[in-house]
Amino acid sequence: MEKASHLSVIVDLSPTQWHLSAQADNQYPLSIQTFLSQLLAFLNAHIASQHENTLAVFGALPGKSVMLYSSTEVLADDAAAPDANSYPPFKAVDSTVVQRMMYEFDAFKDVEEEAPCALVGALAKALCYINRITHPSTSPGGAAEDPSILPDPRILILSVSPDLSSSYIPIMNSIFSAQKLKVTIDVCKIYGPDTVFLQQAAHLTNGSYIYLERRDALLQYLIMSFLSPPAIRKVLAVPKQDKIDFRAACFCHKNIVDVGFVCSVCLSIFCQPVPVCSTCRTKFPIKTLQRLNASRPSLAPTSSRNTLPLANLNNATPRPTPPRNVNGGTPGLR
Ligand SMILES: [Zn+2]
Ligand SMILES: [Zn+2]
Repeated sequence: MEKASHLSVIVDLSPTQWHLSAQADNQYPLSIQTFLSQLLAFLNAHIASQHENTLAVFGALPGKSVMLYSSTEVLADDAAAPDANSYPPFKAVDSTVVQRMMYEFDAFKDVEEEAPCALVGALAKALCYINRITHPSTSPGGAAEDPSILPDPRILILSVSPDLSSSYIPIMNSIFSAQKLKVTIDVCKIYGPDTVFLQQAAHLTNGSYIYLERRDALLQYLIMSFLSPPAIRKVLAVPKQDKIDFRAACFCHKNIVDVGFVCSVCLSIFCQPVPVCSTCRTKFPIKTLQRLNASRPSLAPTSSRNTLPLANLNNATPRPTPPRNVNGGTPGLR
């Protein structure tokens, strides 16, 4: 029998983006109500596919992230009235997720300016949660469980917000943690432009990134691509993105750069040659800086999206992006 699987879903709940997504001038308008009903059907399908499957739902809201549902712990106020016409586990998920979402949205009624969505916070919470359920022996009083019965973990991010370039470093660090925990990150981009960072998250953790073209078919995309656990995907042809945007954000201004300069000591990325690395305080010879500045490309139109020739500050030869995903660690990233 195949192993149970754990699914953590991160729902991007940016009120502005969902309002824009529901506008009638979109080719396929999708309101949060329609989205929610399809999401709940997908969550129920995950619980139904195997009895031991576990589920957690996190919400990324403006400036905060919350856990909306967890099948392994009973949250205080989710005592739903029993209903003879519904299957209790489905009813528990549906009513808890909807109630908590409404509660969180109510808190934003009077907010004038919307903070950026705390997607990274939700991702970090999901990783902490997965770490806890996959390492039960480290919890107080918990006996070491047989690792073969622990669930295969994965995270599904349902994103509607654009990239937030200031969150590049925390996202990369979350990706490294996910690699260490052997967590697959899947991304479904429901609304808005492609996000560079989430494409990289899916690529580096063997997940799939799907840009939703027919938004009226959301549930079909979810079930066809994201319902099967990673172990089964080896025999299914789950769609993956054919091209990935590998650009990085510079550490100095948090801009996404086409050409960057990498500190040869700590691999920090800068948009221009710097005399002193702001991360590790390494000083670079003035001659190198002059040579690098002379060899910088003039402000050409940015066309090469999938290449990132990064010049090394010490030897001034452009080189491809260092393999920062190997063994899940880059010294000096903070
Ligand atoms: Zn910069
Ligand atoms: Zn450095």
